[in-house]
Amino acid sequence: MTPKRVVVVGGGTGGTILANKMVSLLRSETSEGKAEVHLFADSTEHVFSPGNLDIAFRGMVPASFRRREAALLNRRVVLHETAVNRIDLMNRTILYDSKVLNYDYLVLATGSVARPDVIEGLKEASHNFHTGQEDARKTWEALSRFSKGKLVVLTNIPHKCPPSPVEAVFLVEELMRERGLRDKVEIYYATPYTRAYPAPAIADVVEPLMEKRGIRLYNMFNTDYVDTKLRKVYSIEGEELEFDMLITVPPHRGADIVFRSEIGDAEGWIPTDRETMRYSNSDDVYVVGDATNIPISKSGVVAHLEAIVAAENITSDYFGTGKVYCYTGRINCPLELGGNRAVFVSATYEKPPTRQKPSEMKYLMKRTFASIYWEMLKGRLDPLFDLYFGKPYRVRVVEH
Ligand SMILES: Cc1cc2nc3c(=O)[nH]c(=O)nc-3n(C[C@H](O)[C@H](O)[C@H](O)COP(=O)(O)OP(=O)(O)OC[C@H]3O[C@@H](n4cnc5c(N)ncnc54)[C@H](O)[C@@H]3O)c2cc1C
Repeated sequence: MTPKRVVVVGGGTGGTILANKMVSLLRSETSEGKAEVHLFADSTEHVFSPGNLDIAFRGMVPASFRRREAALLNRRVVLHETAVNRIDLMNRTILYDSKVLNYDYLVLATGSVARPDVIEGLKEASHNFHTGQEDARKTWEALSRFSKGKLVVLTNIPHKCPPSPVEAVFLVEELMRERGLRDKVEIYYATPYTRAYPAPAIADVVEPLMEKRGIRLYNMFNTDYVDTKLRKVYSIEGEELEFDMLITVPPHRGADIVFRSEIGDAEGWIPTDRETMRYSNSDDVYVVGDATNIPISKSGVVAHLEAIVAAENITSDYFGTGKVYCYTGRINCPLELGGNRAVFVSATYEKPPTRQKPSEMKYLMKRTFASIYWEMLKGRLDPLFDLYFGKPYRVRVVEH
């Protein structure tokens, strides 16, 4: 009997969690050779991306935020350390290294890519901590040389981790104070949103703190282009900002493979059902994490919870239980505010984030997360999370 095959593309947060969860849900099937779970990762190393903030603004060592992907996977997952070149949904195959592999279930967890190149002058003129550890390190080096002038933190949308640009500006401000340079540096924060943060309850917390720390806020600033010679950034709305140092969160796009395989929209986001994680209502293709077109925050937490939902739905379809698992849209993203304080942006599809007091406890929880992340990928902490937050899905039963 030919084993049924689940193929996962992308060995980041969502893909790794999903592959581990899948072999756990199909434990007896994989051990009896009735099912196989394959994971394609285009890198041998797994990076904990939130660590980029620590690299860029605290000068921490990049290697402490990396692990070998193979060490994070259940031994029953078949790992292919290579990129997938094309996805062929019509023929239910993927192409890689001039080979073809067919699938019974496909999961796309290909993430998002920071693309400073899509705005004129942005790549050349700015530093950023979203394109990878190396650029985060260069941001730290440039900050270490910076001693006076205008420093602009500029957000572009869409991007992963909604709190990250606000965290960046607070950490930069703190750094300048610690170095005794605060009176020599003017700090600006420019964002396309109408408030400092897209959720009003969180903006209510962030804006007074920005004012207190002398961070000048520019709302409704959609970057048009950057003049690299004049060192000015211009907005579509007609404003301009001069800078001596520009730190940006660039606009993001879907992964190359989405464009090559023609399975996404014009920006490379893949059409996905916001509850079931199914691709365009198909029963055999699922999408999780940043790669989806769902208007929810592109974050590791969301990738994690969507991976659980997709794995449950694949298992349900596999055994024909008639159960459909529906993601509630739960998010819990920490937002660091400097001064060892943080809030959590918590919401579901039904409930927007609520206002909260910044706390040291939440800051400590965020800092601890870096060390528990690796265990979380293996699914070991899910029972704890379920106990604290409840399940991230509702279950419907479909009559046959
Ligand atoms: C500075 C920063 C701070 C952040 N802080 C937080 C935080 O505090 N909390 C939080 O929840 N989230 C945070 N995030 C966001 C979080 O890291 C991402 O949202 C999360 O990693 C998304 O998971 P994913 O699996 O969808 O994508 P990824 O983790 O990006 O994984 C996608 C993987 O697919 C691979 N891939 C793409 N194409 C192919 C192909 N053709 N073949 C094989 N592999 C392929 C990519 O190389 C990548 O490894 C932060 C991100 C950044 C940059």
